[in-house]
Amino acid sequence: MSRESFAAPNLGGSQQAPASGFQPTASGYENLDKPVGYLCGDCDTKVTLKRGDPIRCKECGYRVLYKERTNRMIQFEAR
Ligand SMILES: [Zn+2]
Repeated sequence: MSRESFAAPNLGGSQQAPASGFQPTASGYENLDKPVGYLCGDCDTKVTLKRGDPIRCKECGYRVLYKERTNRMIQFEAR
């Protein structure tokens, strides 16, 4: 029996990283995936941004956006 031609991949190597470039460094970030509505400071278009999107109006390209402040009032009109 000669096992010399079989190179075992886990010999002394403790790194298991199948995906290259992606590193889950931060845990507890799940809520940031929610899209957030903003209003363009120039043309008043509603812009919805998700995490990682550039802060920029998709209509006119203006880069100042205001966060919508309707978090508490929006659900009251339904009844
Ligand atoms: Zn705009």
